[in-house]
Amino acid sequence: MRVLKPFDYFEPGTVKEAAQFLTTHGGKAQVLAGGIDLIPRMRIGKKEADYLVNIRKIPGLETIEASGANGLKFGAMATLHSLEASKAIQDDYPILYKAIHQISSVQAKNMGTAVGNICVATPASDVATALFALGAELTIEGVDGERKESIQKFCVDYGRTSLKENEIVTEVFLPRPPAGTGSAFMNLIRTHADIAKVSIAVAITVRDGVCEKVRIAVGAAAPTVFRAIKTEAALKGQKVTHEAINEAAETAAGETKPITDLRSTAEYRREMTGVLARRAMEKALQQVKA
Ligand SMILES: Cc1cc2nc3c(=O)[nH]c(=O)nc-3n(C[C@H](O)[C@H](O)[C@H](O)COP(=O)(O)OP(=O)(O)OC[C@H]3O[C@@H](n4cnc5c(N)ncnc54)[C@H](O)[C@@H]3O)c2cc1C
Repeated sequence: MRVLKPFDYFEPGTVKEAAQFLTTHGGKAQVLAGGIDLIPRMRIGKKEADYLVNIRKIPGLETIEASGANGLKFGAMATLHSLEASKAIQDDYPILYKAIHQISSVQAKNMGTAVGNICVATPASDVATALFALGAELTIEGVDGERKESIQKFCVDYGRTSLKENEIVTEVFLPRPPAGTGSAFMNLIRTHADIAKVSIAVAITVRDGVCEKVRIAVGAAAPTVFRAIKTEAALKGQKVTHEAINEAAETAAGETKPITDLRSTAEYRREMTGVLARRAMEKALQQVKA
């Protein structure tokens, strides 16, 4: 096993202090949350840091707060386990619950955070796929203040987010799904412990059999998790018939830009995106809540 290069360690008491430290040390400092992605990467030399800024002790970052009719917000240090165990998430955001629940590693869920997961910007993130479909909005803080950004804008490219060197994601806001919304999360994995070949999350709002609003997120089938925008546009305003769903599933497959790797060929990923998209849309429609 490779040995970690020595680094200095800082435990700020506030987000401002953390942002100030990141500014002072430029690209040489990294934010440390659960550390389950960062530390192994540092060990194999895929990430370098002279300084780690552990944000765990900053008060309030671990909270999960349902804010009534508006939605729910959770902090950057809310662990995957605490999100999975949250009744509000189980009841109102079941696709986020499912995306986390299927993670096989208890250790990863106890230490890892959802915000750390999305900051890694891997296209195979189940958690990000669910958050895309839920319309998550992030709060990002730096020394000059705070900004809000949708998760789509945040995930710029493979392994790349819109974060500047001195910025920290502090919070994720999930708008409350309107009445008439159903949702579903599905992924395709070889073994329980592996990462997804493809993952799909759908949130669809239906009134009188017509699709009023829909978000379809696809993971592991392009350089980033993405929303199947053309598919969404084709469905919106249409009656949600079997034909419309089948057609939408084909459009979703056509929106992928998959690669061939050790888990799957590109062709299989594209094909299975269509299959999972159809199944997820059908399941989401069965889940529609009045
Ligand atoms: C065994 C195992 C199984 C897994 N299975 C799955 C799975 O099935 N599905 C899935 O989606 N994921 C899975 N994961 C991924 C896992 O969810 C992420 O690695 C984890 O959530 C990362 O969170 P962390 O808090 O440990 O991040 P860290 O390792 O602390 O940080 C990761 C990166 O994000 C940056 N960062 C962290 N927090 C912030 C912040 N607030 N602001 C700015 N930058 C920040 C860090 O600087 C670092 O670059 C698995 C991981 C493991 C180890």
